Amino acid sequence: MTITSKDLKLLLQKSGNRCAFPNCGELLIHADSDNIDEQTVLSNIAHIVAQKGDGPRGHYALPLEERDRENNLLLLCEKHHKIIDDQPQRYTVERLRQFKEDHEKRIEELTGMVSSKQLETIQYVTERLYSNLFEVIEMPAHIYCAPSKLHQSQINEIRQAIVPPKDKNEIYPFIVREGNLYSFQNLKYGGGPFQHVVDTEKSRSIRAYDFWNDPIKTLWFLDLLNQTLNKLTGRKGLMWDKEHKRYYFQPDKPGEIKEVEYRPLNQAKSTKQVVWQPLKKSTNEPHPYWLHRAVNLRFHQVNQSQWCLSIRPEFRVTKNGFEPLDSEKIGGKVTRKKSRMFNYDLLGEINFWRDFLCGSEPRIILSFGKGQQLIVSSNMLQTDVQWPGMPERYAKPFTNVEYQEDLFSWAKLANLKIDADEDEEFLSEEEGEDYDDE
Ligand SMILES: [Zn+2]
Repeated sequence: MTITSKDLKLLLQKSGNRCAFPNCGELLIHADSDNIDEQTVLSNIAHIVAQKGDGPRGHYALPLEERDRENNLLLLCEKHHKIIDDQPQRYTVERLRQFKEDHEKRIEELTGMVSSKQLETIQYVTERLYSNLFEVIEMPAHIYCAPSKLHQSQINEIRQAIVPPKDKNEIYPFIVREGNLYSFQNLKYGGGPFQHVVDTEKSRSIRAYDFWNDPIKTLWFLDLLNQTLNKLTGRKGLMWDKEHKRYYFQPDKPGEIKEVEYRPLNQAKSTKQVVWQPLKKSTNEPHPYWLHRAVNLRFHQVNQSQWCLSIRPEFRVTKNGFEPLDSEKIGGKVTRKKSRMFNYDLLGEINFWRDFLCGSEPRIILSFGKGQQLIVSSNMLQTDVQWPGMPERYAKPFTNVEYQEDLFSWAKLANLKIDADEDEEFLSEEEGEDYDDE
């Protein structure tokens, strides 16, 4: 199969000889040029569904004999041709068809060929959707393992024997499994927090990556991560609701409303009530219960080497700010509250949590000692969608969604990088001197 000259002509005409990729419009072929090189023309033509089954988007159900027809062809500049073929998951058949339709409609309008009927067709708008997922920029690269002097049932004894790290910012999660203690801290260091509970001589390091290839050890790794979250939230004053696996705010004193300062989406600074007694709309009397902002935090492995943190806003309901309300009474209240929370509200809620957790910085950095850290970006993962909807000028714009880097936050990351680089050298020396041992 090849493209017939009729289909080719139609394609060039409808696309105005311009790249159909949104906001590109590069003029590809000068219509008045009399030596149009056929090769150049063909190299600018992309198949929406590939010519053959093994090409980009080639598995889409479209008979082979239809694939060289004009309605399956898209005129693209070299750069955009490569982009769409390199990322077929992102540039799906549906999306490319939309590109084609939008582009050809624009060309029609510009060349005055538009009919009144077409003007009435649905307008597609581009909107940005934000997810509740945050990219993990860096995971601890190693897990350290050493024989434990105490059994895993003696977890409290172990906790008591731990020496807190000298650097107050360091976090020291650990688990004991099959006679070994696992941690993100290097157990070889004699002065480390676990010096009294493990046989430091027999410490070894395991690549975190190897843990993720083992379903059981992935769970161990998650245990370490969840303890890390526990420390982070604990430092921020949050409580752990074991039953619902979420963190929540508690009032400072009984009967007192709690507020925290944060940076909302469209303002510089504001406060938000995190524990309060809602008022009845009709009488302004308080309801007989308290609401607490709560959050479910979870790490997800999205592929071989990539992790995300999800932030799911929730609410906890109590009788008086402390005692949980009977569970049968809660259901309706929280569900009603949640079901009223749509798009902008939910985004605002997610934003509140990420701002609170990262302290308005571009990332959350949790350090486990030399060269080992967990870094989570505070930018929401997002995607652009095109759908029939409100024109952009009526939609509520979001600003402040990305935190600007300031010198301070850069310096923080840069320092960590330096530490990590030094540690690489250190780790590669088998018989290196013990760190922190003077
Ligand atoms: Zn282009």
